[in-house]
Amino acid sequence: MKPLRVAIVGAGPAGLYAAGHLLEGPGGTYLDGRLVRMVNRPVEVDVFDRLPTHWGLVRHGVAPDHPEKKLVQTVFEQVAARRGFRFFGNVEVGRHVSAADLSRWYDAVIYANGAASDATLGIDGEDLPGSVAAREFVAWYNGHPDYRDLDIDLSHERAVVVGNGNVALDVARILTLPIAALERTDIADHALRTLRASRVREVVVLGRRGPAEAAFSNPELEELGRLPSVDIVVAEPVVVVAEPVVEEPSTTSDDPAVRRKLATLRNYARRTSNAPKRIVLRFHTSPTALLGDSRVRGVALRDNRTGEHSELGAGLVLRAIGYRGIGVPGLPFDEQRGIVENVDGRVTGMVGTYVTGWIKRGPRGIIGTNKKCARDTVRALLAVADHLDRSDTLDAAAVEAELRHRRPDLVTHEQWLRIDAAERAAGRPQGRPRIKFSDVEELLAAAQAR
Ligand code: NAP
Repeated sequence: MKPLRVAIVGAGPAGLYAAGHLLEGPGGTYLDGRLVRMVNRPVEVDVFDRLPTHWGLVRHGVAPDHPEKKLVQTVFEQVAARRGFRFFGNVEVGRHVSAADLSRWYDAVIYANGAASDATLGIDGEDLPGSVAAREFVAWYNGHPDYRDLDIDLSHERAVVVGNGNVALDVARILTLPIAALERTDIADHALRTLRASRVREVVVLGRRGPAEAAFSNPELEELGRLPSVDIVVAEPVVVVAEPVVEEPSTTSDDPAVRRKLATLRNYARRTSNAPKRIVLRFHTSPTALLGDSRVRGVALRDNRTGEHSELGAGLVLRAIGYRGIGVPGLPFDEQRGIVENVDGRVTGMVGTYVTGWIKRGPRGIIGTNKKCARDTVRALLAVADHLDRSDTLDAAAVEAELRHRRPDLVTHEQWLRIDAAERAAGRPQGRPRIKFSDVEELLAAAQAR
């Protein structure tokens, strides 16, 4: 039987979960609590990534001090080892191949290219040097090749983080963790050097709403309280939650998760210590402008309850207010939501074209959220697979020949395994999980090494 041939764009969690569902493991797939076979024909999957590396945000997004969140890559490694899986790294869709090429070559295409840009504050000074999207800062410390030369100035004592999500807490932690804790991780070497010389002593995290509405999750908030040598300070506007006062509506929430969050914050507000560094959680506060002439030197603030204005000095402002998807040339894009237009994963008006992950539903959810998301997309694809079957697609060998012609230094899965082994070997003498290559030339050299 002719295999169903599917291209997946993006080798992050969304793409790899989709590949895993298509190249279903021997046990099948859990659907409604039962293990069933979703796929009843041979499938071939080619995963494309513009970088020479695998695993997307697991490699370039998950904080280096959270190695347990990277364990999922062993699941992806098993998927990548299945018959029918191929990787074409260092190939950019929209540059080396077009969406139209993929639609012509494959029976179906799944875009899983995430959210590669940022929401904006829309305030004066946002573009000053020293104002950095948290996404970029995260990519910088995780060794993403595009961000290794990012201008990160840690020569001032205070940094401000705008936003109250888990990304905000990730970056606040990385800025305050003792360097010894980072030295054992896979953080990029350039970031380690910069953080070692850091003079940042205080990180102020700004939430525009109250603590009950904060987007960060409880384990991440509670983890702050266990950081060595870091005080957690709950700043003035929220001191009301230090006491269980009934007039604070958010303290009477019925939601157990909110109650737990408020209890943690009350606990922080009561604690006193004198650690060398501190994270200040300040709620009901919005930046109205970033101040400075040639670089950020502070933030103008508004208390959203009283309307009061104030200023806070800072040498670095990290904007952690959410990621944003970028359109794929040839696919309909919803500018307002920053997603490819789709109905349950089926791209609007394009037969055989699907989306999964953040480009389908927006930049929300943890890595595991993508498993069900990808399963739903793959189910939608498989439901019409017989109609997608075309006679004019290219077979696996023809696709590879065409790709090698257009992109001679594409990176295959076997070559990625060489990169992976070289990085792990480099980390071993230092007791680190790996030392990442953060330069495309270095990555290609490792891929091509004999
Ligand atoms: P997020 O959870 O959506 O948080 C965005 C934050 O930015 C919210 O607090 C939001 O406040 C605030 N915000 C948005 N626009 C703003 C503005 N104009 N001014 C001030 N604040 C503004 O996004 P994220 O932190 O980027 O995380 C993305 C996803 O990845 C989330 O689902 C997150 O849980 C996940 N993630 C998980 C982990 C982990 O498990 N450890 C780590 C990192 C990321 P409002 O609520 O008021 O809109």
